[in-house]
Amino acid sequence: MTHVTQVDGPTDSVTARVPAKVNLQLSVGPLREDGYHDLVTVFHAVSLFDEVTVTRADRTSVLVTGEGGPAVPLGPANLAVRAAVALARATGRRGRGAGGVKIEIRKRIPVAAGLAGGSADAAATLVACNDLWQVGLSQAELCEIGADLGSDVPFAVVGGIAVGRGRGDVLTPALAAGNYHWALAFGQAGLSTAEVYATCDRLRARATAAGNRAPAGEPTLSTPLMAALRAGDPAQVGPLLSNDLQPAALSMQPELRRALAEGRDYGALGAIVSGSGPTCAFLAKGAAHARDIAVALTSSGACRAATRASGPVPGASVVKAGA
Ligand code: ATP
Repeated sequence: MTHVTQVDGPTDSVTARVPAKVNLQLSVGPLREDGYHDLVTVFHAVSLFDEVTVTRADRTSVLVTGEGGPAVPLGPANLAVRAAVALARATGRRGRGAGGVKIEIRKRIPVAAGLAGGSADAAATLVACNDLWQVGLSQAELCEIGADLGSDVPFAVVGGIAVGRGRGDVLTPALAAGNYHWALAFGQAGLSTAEVYATCDRLRARATAAGNRAPAGEPTLSTPLMAALRAGDPAQVGPLLSNDLQPAALSMQPELRRALAEGRDYGALGAIVSGSGPTCAFLAKGAAHARDIAVALTSSGACRAATRASGPVPGASVVKAGA
């Protein structure tokens, strides 16, 4: 639930929080001529949040603290900065101070982890600046601006559970019931999304050349997964989790196999690499089971760190406005 503290008059700063995502299905089509892949994915927003505060300023700047902070670019390459600039442009805010914001990002979502943390920060910045500047764009309009920044940004604005098509940016809400409890195991080092896709293409080409698999076809939505989500039954959902990028992520970080196997040994209903990895997501029977899996994986050394989270949760939302 969104909790907003109201203050009188124009506010000087706004804080938004935004969840990470796990892909319940990630089906990747063949490489297109423009270098992208058509995707069919089922996004699921989970309760691991970054927080972004935007404060009026003469010029735009960014400060990043928390999990993986030093790995995040501080200049115009930062997705949150790009989001603020894009929203200022789209709403005609020009001139000294008009579109300037100091952006403070408090990260809990690890960087380059397959959890869309950068996209999440962009989404939080769009939502926070929309509120700070009182420009009144709709969620759909924010998603449209977000899609130009990254294919996961619209989902981070919307949250919940949604089907993504195209590059993942064309969203339709999914009919889903129930709550899902997860243990999330973080890898020792990040993985570059572009390199994981390139490895996926190479592995597929090699398997096709060796006669071991047909060339990748157009991705399709898993009907059994959607039925399991409608039923709201984690025991049905677990075995139906799928990720076409997983073989590539495992070939780049073979130690992830151990984490996945250990999570299954601890009774996870499903165990999968999240997005382009290296985070491994384990669907648990409940909150206590998720905590047990996270503790077991951390203490066995199968991952750098682990936490529990649950979903679905709403997308980027304002939590605080201050004078
Ligand atoms: P994807 O959305 O492709 O799954 P990811 O979750 O694997 O991405 P991110 O945490 O989004 O990875 O980071 C990908 C890269 O984006 C980082 O290596 C970093 O250089 C860059 N980046 C730009 N802005 C940010 C930001 N605000 N937070 C994190 N990374 C950012």
